[in-house]
Amino acid sequence: MPETCDVVIIGGGVIGCAIAHRLAAQGTSVVLVDAGQRLGLGASDGAMGGILTQTEPSCLGPLSGVIKRSRDIYPDWLEEIHAASGVEIPVLDGGDIQVALDEAEMERLESKVLPLWKNSPFAVEPLSATEARSLEPLLSERVVGGFLLPEELALDPRVLMAALTTAVLSGRTPIRVLSAVRATDLRTGPDGVEVELHDGRRVSADKAIVAAGHLSGVFLPRHRDHLFPIKGVAFDVRPPGAVTYPLRHHVFAEIRQDGREYYPYLVPRYDGRVAVGVTYEENVGDVTVTAAAIEEIRRGVAALMPKAATWPIGRRWAGLRPGSADHMPIIGHVDDHGRVVAATGHSGLGITLAPVTAELVAALVTGTAGARERELLDVCRPDRPFPPAPTPPVPPPPTAR
Ligand SMILES: Cc1cc2nc3c(=O)[nH]c(=O)nc-3n(C[C@H](O)[C@H](O)[C@H](O)COP(=O)(O)OP(=O)(O)OC[C@H]3O[C@@H](n4cnc5c(N)ncnc54)[C@H](O)[C@@H]3O)c2cc1C
Repeated sequence: MPETCDVVIIGGGVIGCAIAHRLAAQGTSVVLVDAGQRLGLGASDGAMGGILTQTEPSCLGPLSGVIKRSRDIYPDWLEEIHAASGVEIPVLDGGDIQVALDEAEMERLESKVLPLWKNSPFAVEPLSATEARSLEPLLSERVVGGFLLPEELALDPRVLMAALTTAVLSGRTPIRVLSAVRATDLRTGPDGVEVELHDGRRVSADKAIVAAGHLSGVFLPRHRDHLFPIKGVAFDVRPPGAVTYPLRHHVFAEIRQDGREYYPYLVPRYDGRVAVGVTYEENVGDVTVTAAAIEEIRRGVAALMPKAATWPIGRRWAGLRPGSADHMPIIGHVDDHGRVVAATGHSGLGITLAPVTAELVAALVTGTAGARERELLDVCRPDRPFPPAPTPPVPPPPTAR
């Protein structure tokens, strides 16, 4: 006999867990199926942890209202997860500093990016080079100016996932978790859905949520061409002796030098480490950490914050962001029977958008979406037109060795 529940969720990353937690809190019975040995080992384990309001270009277009809602509810959401799990989730609220290392980049920020930032629902504060360095004294002498995005937050995604999975597994809510179990098929019909598992078991439910990260396309035939992995490599460093946040802000720059582009991003952690990243490799689906990627990041950091490039490297990792062709999440019903809901394609914004995604999916599933939810769901609707997805990069020709 199949296991039965109100809602079956495929995927236990930040998105699947946030949705499970939200639905269960409303009394919906949930089965959460995840292929990992434990929950949260996909992209959510490898994120930098910025709660972004403007740094990512995709924050600034039609998604800005969705971002705003997520940022507004983030503190209460974290408090809820803390209350349910007992796990503290330290949050750095100094904002993000984005700096320019030469006049050409400053001119680009002022003429092209600042108007978009000003048009977003969030604050932006110009910084002279002196002001930027007084906020973050380790910034390079090359900095010519920059901007503070004061409403951006940062957290350690591993701590967030520890709290969220503890809440989901706590047994206080009607969630049954099936870990190390791969869903192999999802069937939908007028009476409900059925998910087949790799070990032959089945789960029947009224509705299914597809939150399988970069593998979601397997269950979303209409969106297979719109979803792809975006590989990101990062590592962490620890300044000698540091036991708490070694920087007061997360720091980002776009740097063009020696005919190359670098995008160093530093996110300080509460325990003294700094996460340093990050590469952005579209349609690359392996998680190998290459020496070339580490060196690319290190060069960017050496230009932005020379001291940080001398700090010893600790963990190195690669993760696969669930990319969508227009870099916006796909949230909504995707089948003719109104029983399968996609909650994926969050690209580089899944940690940022987890609370609002849970809120919107819960409203859809329980049929309680009001005017605000409908407006935000419209932005993420699955039947919007998509540009073509990027083609995979061509591998270099084989060498003699
Ligand atoms: C290097 C890097 C830096 C990032 N930095 C940021 C940042 O600063 N801010 C931000 O907001 N976002 C950031 N992101 C993006 C963010 O991590 C993702 O958008 C988010 O984690 C996606 O969550 P998810 O739950 O959709 O996917 P995942 O975390 O990948 O979870 C998907 C889950 O589905 C499961 N699954 C897949 N297929 C099946 C199946 N057939 N059956 C059962 N289970 C299945 C997997 O086991 C996995 O646990 C970053 C990502 C990377 C890689």
